Amino acid sequence: MSNPSLLILPGDGIGPEVMAEVRRVIDWFGDKRGLKFDVSEDLVGGCAYDAHGTPLTDETMAKAQEVDAVLLGAVGGPKYDKLDFSVKPERGLLRLRKEMDLYANLRPAQCFDALADFSSLKKDVVAGLDIMIIRELTSGVYFGEPRGIIKEGNERVGINTQRYTESEIARVARSAFEMARKRNNKVCSMEKANVMESGILWRDVVQEIHDAEYPDVELSHMYADAGAMQLTRWPKQFDVIVTDNLFGDLLSDLAAMLTGSLGMLPSASLGAPMANGRPKALYEPVHGSAPDIAGQGKANPIACILSFAMALRYSFDKGDEATRLEQAIEAVLAKGYRTADLLGEEGKQPVSTSEMGTAILEALDESL
Ligand code: NAD
Repeated sequence: MSNPSLLILPGDGIGPEVMAEVRRVIDWFGDKRGLKFDVSEDLVGGCAYDAHGTPLTDETMAKAQEVDAVLLGAVGGPKYDKLDFSVKPERGLLRLRKEMDLYANLRPAQCFDALADFSSLKKDVVAGLDIMIIRELTSGVYFGEPRGIIKEGNERVGINTQRYTESEIARVARSAFEMARKRNNKVCSMEKANVMESGILWRDVVQEIHDAEYPDVELSHMYADAGAMQLTRWPKQFDVIVTDNLFGDLLSDLAAMLTGSLGMLPSASLGAPMANGRPKALYEPVHGSAPDIAGQGKANPIACILSFAMALRYSFDKGDEATRLEQAIEAVLAKGYRTADLLGEEGKQPVSTSEMGTAILEALDESL
């Protein structure tokens, strides 16, 4: 059987720096755990525009459709701010998400014990936190028609439409229930069924899919505004949260920041299963290209390395190896290794991007 395939798109700014550390981790799993990947690398974002005049070539798009998983660093930067909208670096990322039809966006919020003091919430509220927000990514109010700014009498009117079909709700609900079965078997669905018809349909369809296909999973429903309050009050009450595109945008950012730095946050966007049963998948850190620190060896590579851990778990069925990698990161943080973004006011000497990578490889060695 051939090795699973991985397309790496480092992108711009700190993207190549953090991805270099991921490459070392991938090599480690190949050498020490016999987990070999067919890795190819290509351009996306501003660097693709520089080379080809487009943020994503058709050839790269075709490759992304063929591989088992895509791992992306970050795109964008001030150099590209004045480009026409159609060729801005972000368009490359949006094209990938759209053409791969990645409808389920997975945003874990996990608090490493060593960083619990770093949260803006009390330590006991976040220590040990491990929840997963699944945001519907390809429909809802960001895409619904009619939309636009029209003239009505003497004033302008801005219009966006929240629109969900049953099948769009059903497929992301299934993603959430499947995820819950791999975790603590609990899903909370969030909408605004009290004031939105699309919310009523959302609630009904999630309940129907649950009753017909996943009766073993514990399901609850919550209005999204109450959900925001509960997330800051006692986030550990949740396991998997499933919600629409707009509420998911807000709630996933809120939940993620409970745990500290942007440099720690991975994400996955999953689509329908391919012929081999694996979902179409794009893994990427939540952070951007951080032009303020790019090229200085200051970037925290952990968000990108944790994105690879998600790939191990969700694309390659290697949950045990993903856990090994997450525990190595936990161990390194417990030993006190900190990149500059994790130092706060402490005034200690930070480690560089590659020093953090080396420490994680050493912790992986110790795990054997
Ligand atoms: P950003 O995430 O790049 O940076 C925000 C702040 O967090 C900066 O101070 C940065 O130094 C810090 N930071 C981010 N990642 C870090 C890491 N791994 N280690 C240490 N510090 C880190 O967001 P921004 O400044 O708003 O955007 C910069 C560029 O990135 C823009 O061009 C934007 O369009 C783009 N962007 C891309 C993506 C993506 O590729 N998915 C996401 C967001 C922003």
